Amino acid sequence: MTAPGLPRGRFGPDFPGKICHARTRAGQRCRKAAALGTPVCRSHGAAGGAPRGPKHGKWKTGQYSIEAVAKRKRLSVAARRSRQRLKLAVKMCELMGMFTEGADEEALTAKNWGKLHELRRQLEVLDEPISADAV
Ligand SMILES: [Zn+2]
Repeated sequence: MTAPGLPRGRFGPDFPGKICHARTRAGQRCRKAAALGTPVCRSHGAAGGAPRGPKHGKWKTGQYSIEAVAKRKRLSVAARRSRQRLKLAVKMCELMGMFTEGADEEALTAKNWGKLHELRRQLEVLDEPISADAV
């Protein structure tokens, strides 16, 4: 479709400005011009919306703010890792015969050393910093 008063090819592949990055429901690229300062056209989200943060009309305590939710997720991951660390430590102690009364020196067989090494590797994984996708 050619808009009246505009030269042919003004929009479409020859458009000199930015094209919207969105995809249509049919799966094709949107061919509209992107709104200034955004990668999408007004139909695909550049039209604005409510302000973020305390200026939003529904803001009350900030309990569901992006930062607060992210902080709770990080704490949740840290707590989960802490529980996993404890479990691994208990397993390691069991392998070393620390909970067995009268355990002899031969408790650490070659097979157990392998298991112990694997548990230590799992412990090291838990010590890695919590990334956003670890949630
Ligand atoms: Zn668009």
